[in-house]
Amino acid sequence: MIGVNTHIYLLHFFYICRQHMDKFIVSARKYRPQNFSAVVGQNHITTTLKNAIKNNQLAHAFLFCGPRGVGKTTCARILAKTINCENITLDGEACNNCRSCTSFNEGASLNVHELDAASNNSVDDIRALVEQVRFAPQAGRYKVYIIDEVHMLSSSAFNAFLKTLEEPPPYAIFILATTEKHKILPTILSRCQIFDFKRITTNDTANYLQEICTKESIRTEPSALQLIAQKSEGCMRDALSILDKIVSFTNSEVSYQNTLEHLNILDAEYYFRMVQRMSEQDIADVLLLFDDIMYKGFEGDMVLNGFLEFFRNLLVCKDKKAASLLEVVENFRDKYFQTAEKTPVAYIISALNILNETEINYKAARNKKLHVELALIKLCYLQQALEISAGDTGVTKKKSVESAIPLTLRNIPVLEWKKKGEGSRTTKQAAPQNEGPYQGGQGGARLIIETEEERQPAAKNPQPVAAKPVQPSAVAPTPSPAETPKAAEMPTTKLGALSKIRKQFAQVNDTATGTMKPLTIEALQAAWADFANSLREAKNPAVQSFERAELKVIDDSLFEIVSHNNLEQKFIDQQRMRLCEYLQALFNNKAVTYRMSLHDKISMPVITDVQLNSKEQFQKIVEQYPLVKELKDRLKLDLDY
Ligand SMILES: [Zn+2]
Repeated sequence: MIGVNTHIYLLHFFYICRQHMDKFIVSARKYRPQNFSAVVGQNHITTTLKNAIKNNQLAHAFLFCGPRGVGKTTCARILAKTINCENITLDGEACNNCRSCTSFNEGASLNVHELDAASNNSVDDIRALVEQVRFAPQAGRYKVYIIDEVHMLSSSAFNAFLKTLEEPPPYAIFILATTEKHKILPTILSRCQIFDFKRITTNDTANYLQEICTKESIRTEPSALQLIAQKSEGCMRDALSILDKIVSFTNSEVSYQNTLEHLNILDAEYYFRMVQRMSEQDIADVLLLFDDIMYKGFEGDMVLNGFLEFFRNLLVCKDKKAASLLEVVENFRDKYFQTAEKTPVAYIISALNILNETEINYKAARNKKLHVELALIKLCYLQQALEISAGDTGVTKKKSVESAIPLTLRNIPVLEWKKKGEGSRTTKQAAPQNEGPYQGGQGGARLIIETEEERQPAAKNPQPVAAKPVQPSAVAPTPSPAETPKAAEMPTTKLGALSKIRKQFAQVNDTATGTMKPLTIEALQAAWADFANSLREAKNPAVQSFERAELKVIDDSLFEIVSHNNLEQKFIDQQRMRLCEYLQALFNNKAVTYRMSLHDKISMPVITDVQLNSKEQFQKIVEQYPLVKELKDRLKLDLDY
């Protein structure tokens, strides 16, 4: 099937070639710019060169660096022609009419010598060139030597060239061109005026292609030219040769579909459909779509690559600032923006990650199709996975290290409060809703108190509670029966325990001004246990360290945490802010703080200064583990003294 197709294509190709043979010149040659102003995308260089020519300040050696196909050789040739022109225009351009210019344009000038260093890189080649330099030009002012791919010269060739480059005769000008500037010896670099050529932008390329197509009366679709420009990645020569190829294949009809086919690019439409199906978790359709793509002759890695680029484009659309980086066919621009709006950033980034990994491992995979399919299936379930790990905050925290973060993001339970929220209450509600009780500090605690009173008039008994605060028993978090159901109705689950405690204490506490409560060991231990509980509910790994720690009250506002090792100490200290805020609110004492110390009674092995010899070591071991002696005797082992 494929064989027949190719055969037909080839026949078609030869037929067209025959038709066009007489007038067909490769565009890259036919449309090589004849003066500086025609060079695409290198204004910074052509302007400088023109000015240098106008002011007669030419260097005797130039180095043109930059990616391939951006106009280095072209500029070198234009420069050679211009400086030899008999009537340079005021603008600093060649006239293209004089004898010198016409001989240049016909490629017959004796004043320009081109050497391709890629194939002529030996010392002899350079010596031959240096030999030529000695003779002054017979006509014209300058002899120009263009050495292409100069980084390919062998080091001995470089050295043979160095002397001439340093002190050339006044009529000689060297233009070295390279794609790899870093490979040029510093001695050469320092003797040249360096020009860095830029990659040609997609827009510039597309516009230039359009110009040529108009001149050649080729029917084109702008999206097709944009596609070619993208594919050429800033290399004009590639763009032109692609255009030539498509023109010759399609009988001068460059349409979007034709171009896709010839460049073997998968239509972005497929990716849009794929993403749509993925958002619907329609695995069957996604797999069918992929099968369809494979059937069209696209390889799995190309699909992955295209999909990666697609997601990259979506990500770029997410931000107005970055949107200028979006390089897609104009027709699709809006569609990209619409799709990006519907797709969450977290999804895009995770998708990029999955696809990237799949692409990296693609080579190693034995079943390539399955390998890609697995990635697509993952993408189908990705949104769901993200939602689960995100909870209700919308912030992904798959591998949340600091589990304090969710707490600060939770709302305090003000839902019912809002219903009644009128008059003075509404003003208090103005406090940011998403601000957690910890950020609120003491203010947060008081906020809850008011809620409390309002929600449960029965609990509004400040008198007996105010009498209690000194009693440590009141501090213990035994929820009153009236309170238990209320705790259950609280929307925030993880925070439940902690805010429950806070509420209890808030009740106990004087609501308006608050009297300071003494820091007793019982109250502290109860509070400590509750704090640890809240950590456990939040699945914070610090909880074990909290449980193992011992507490000592030093004075009214200082206590000591004794932990068993540095690691535990660190775990506890990571909670410092929250712990202090919690205790300060609880004891109504802004000064409450703690210091840390390590347990003294840790049984560390006693390190003796005395170096034991092996016999003594053995005896020590036997003291501790008598079975070792038996082992030695039974196996008739000897000690190696
Ligand atoms: Zn001229």
